[in-house]
Amino acid sequence: MKRKKFVAGNWKMNLDLEGAKALATELNAHTGEFHCDVALFPSYVFLAEVQHTLKHSKIRLGAQNLSYSENGAYTGEVSASMLASIGMEYVLIGHSERREYLNEERDVLCLKLRLALKYGLKPIYCIGEPASVRNEGLHKEFVRDQMEDCLSDFTTEEISNITIAYEPIWAIGTGVTATTSQAQEMHEYIRQHLGDMYSEEIAQRMRILYGGSCKPDNAKELFLCPDVDGGLIGGASLKAADFLAIIEAAQ
Ligand code: PEP
Repeated sequence: MKRKKFVAGNWKMNLDLEGAKALATELNAHTGEFHCDVALFPSYVFLAEVQHTLKHSKIRLGAQNLSYSENGAYTGEVSASMLASIGMEYVLIGHSERREYLNEERDVLCLKLRLALKYGLKPIYCIGEPASVRNEGLHKEFVRDQMEDCLSDFTTEEISNITIAYEPIWAIGTGVTATTSQAQEMHEYIRQHLGDMYSEEIAQRMRILYGGSCKPDNAKELFLCPDVDGGLIGGASLKAADFLAIIEAAQ
């Protein structure tokens, strides 16, 4: 099955309002050249302005996080329904930085996935092993557990709205990228396991993005791997020229 490539830019806690608008404006000027899906994940506080900048654009928008609670007295949190109400399409869930620094574990991530889907958001569920696990040769078991933790028991429609991002933690922000054979091996394994958990059809339809020091000079070879359907890009999404080169590499 042919899956359309997808390149997503996770801006993390970077840029200021002017920088966010300028980056969105520059990317938007090139959408005529895009033949893959592209989404941006600015900070919450810039979502409305970036959305305004991208009005009628092909570029999709998402949030970097959402609350595990539906509504109520959770000072500082942002709910799935709030994000849906301002027209967000995607949301990142399970990014390793939140797992590590904000102690987000299985129960919280499952609640977030359920709420995202309930309110019509499309989650990008991030999984990936730390270096110590890979060194022990347990990376497949580790991502299998992360999949089973949170991806079980969805309906066919629900699971079809989820994208997986395989992001080995040792590659995120380190400049060390997975080799094409490491990436392909893991993406193929994830797809096979989705087939075991759901069906071959769902596994073949699901887009699995690679994340971890993906740059203009390595994007093409990664995206040529048969089970790599695009990338979740951190650092390189903050420079228009780099991000555009990665988008170009995906088509
Ligand atoms: C990420 O944080 O999702 C990521 C892939 O970061 P980087 O591209 O900077 O490694």
